[in-house]
Amino acid sequence: MRNILCLICLLCLFTACDRIESPTQQILLHPHEAEEPLTHTVQFQVPKWLQDILWENEEQLIQDLVRLELRDREEIDSIIEAIRTRREQSEDYTVFVDVDGMALIGTRGIGTRIEEMANIMLTMTQKHPSIRKELHYDKGFYFVIYSPVFFTTEQLPEWREAKKGFGNNIYLIPPGFCYFGLNMCVAPSKVSDYAVNKAWWFKNSWEVGIHEFGHAMDYAIRKIDPSFETKLTAAYENAKEKGLWTYHLNAPPDSFRDNPKEYWALGIEAWFLGKNETRIGWVNGERSPAMNKVTLPEIDPLLYELLNEWLPYVDIEP
Ligand SMILES: [Zn+2]
Repeated sequence: MRNILCLICLLCLFTACDRIESPTQQILLHPHEAEEPLTHTVQFQVPKWLQDILWENEEQLIQDLVRLELRDREEIDSIIEAIRTRREQSEDYTVFVDVDGMALIGTRGIGTRIEEMANIMLTMTQKHPSIRKELHYDKGFYFVIYSPVFFTTEQLPEWREAKKGFGNNIYLIPPGFCYFGLNMCVAPSKVSDYAVNKAWWFKNSWEVGIHEFGHAMDYAIRKIDPSFETKLTAAYENAKEKGLWTYHLNAPPDSFRDNPKEYWALGIEAWFLGKNETRIGWVNGERSPAMNKVTLPEIDPLLYELLNEWLPYVDIEP
């Protein structure tokens, strides 16, 4: 009998476990008062079928490795690195929400905060739900939120790959990033008060999440509307020329932060989190008192027009 049980248990290890539903928790998402609340499910495991879409298949990697000769040193190293990444992803990323087709994945320790980010993603895309289709997991895109109590950016497996992609443009390790080489974005969840004094970016709980998802929206909108890129670049050039915007934190001029994509993401922050003046920069040589959706039409009408075209007029803070 014991042998049979053991056999069943081994079989489960290799096959049936994938088919067992992970524990789930029903949640209600409220994208907007006018919209029907969407019911979504927090799953305490990234489903195997989704892992296979988003990440490399470990069995396949191992098969590839076995086929290689000792002299293929470089290839062996890169496959071993891919296996390491794959294992970390399946161990550290423990929560998943299907946000109307967008994959939102959370690390250990994220808890119910994942629901807040799910709401933010729905809210930000509610004016143009077609954005959700461009960021659908079928296209390989996923958004990771991590608990800063358990992780730092550097500990996330994707960072190693993204760092190579960013090259010398990285002069500090950001709390969040998007790397479309891997078709993903990452941001920290808000944290308890103790972290507030330690790091400026935690001051506003979800500002990094909103900023990074803003980058993801930019990526999607460019595909939906081919004129978007031209309009955004024109607004950016105009703002630079008139001295409306300067990037914050003494970023070196023409660094990776000084470009239309960052301008857009900061515009999104201004739209939703305008009261957070430290992130918004300078207007006409003076620190912006409140760059937000009320003051934007006067300060930067071109950017306002674009934001207003794609973003809903709601308060997003959970
Ligand atoms: Zn950015």
